[in-house]
Amino acid sequence: MTFHTDEHGNPVYCDKHTRIIGGEEKPYPVQLMELRDGSVKCPMCEREQRNKEIEQEAEVWRRQVERRVLSTHSLIADPTLEKATFETYHCYNQEDEQNKRRMLELVDQIKAGVIMNIFITGASNAGKSHLAISALKELNKKSQEAYAKSALFVNSDALMRRIKNSFNDDSEKLTESKAIELLTRVDYLVIDDLGSEVGDTDNEKRTAPDFIQRVWYGISTGRQGKVTIVTTNLTGLALAKLYDKKTVNRLTAHLEQIEFEEAQKGKGRKTPASLV
Ligand SMILES: [Zn+2]
Repeated sequence: MTFHTDEHGNPVYCDKHTRIIGGEEKPYPVQLMELRDGSVKCPMCEREQRNKEIEQEAEVWRRQVERRVLSTHSLIADPTLEKATFETYHCYNQEDEQNKRRMLELVDQIKAGVIMNIFITGASNAGKSHLAISALKELNKKSQEAYAKSALFVNSDALMRRIKNSFNDDSEKLTESKAIELLTRVDYLVIDDLGSEVGDTDNEKRTAPDFIQRVWYGISTGRQGKVTIVTTNLTGLALAKLYDKKTVNRLTAHLEQIEFEEAQKGKGRKTPASLV
């Protein structure tokens, strides 16, 4: 490897580089190198190219790790949901069919880049969580290389128990700030059974405790411009009483709603297993 010169023995420079001298951008000539195979290259251009390739590879790797967040960090209270997909979603009535179709339509829109928040509402056992996790798995699918988006499913009661636990237990990794960071970071988030973390839903004067308000406030603020799916059996009115107004406004911006209004009695779904 030698420095490259022209036929008169003068150095030949690459003119693509600059540096800042005294606050001003000045040309920074880099002498070209002649490699053993006879090719002539600029060492700085070569290095920049290699850095770019390494960065791209790192980004692909980071995306792959992120995509696994769904299986490694989700908090699923009902173990039957772990295998739930659109294929295993059983329709018991016309409303189920309509809601499933609607959810599939919304998934297509989200894939096309539409930003929305989806509220899936209705009584327990309606199949809300099943629909939500099916959508999430579809959005998180491995075959869709172009997306490779990260997704997370979090049962709100399980989440807040873990955070509360971290107040007294140093071995609990899911602290308030970690939870906010994780739930904000992912591309797609399902907040499952919003309201269940507060308990005692019949008490009309009840509002969520401070730390719960803080967590939802942080997450709803950080997730503006991202897709969040919420399942809840609370009405809009009950939510407004329970949570900070700004939190509710942000979670319900660009809102799409899927409602289960029919009686859920005849449905064969299992009631969610209690969290251990
Ligand atoms: Zn160069």
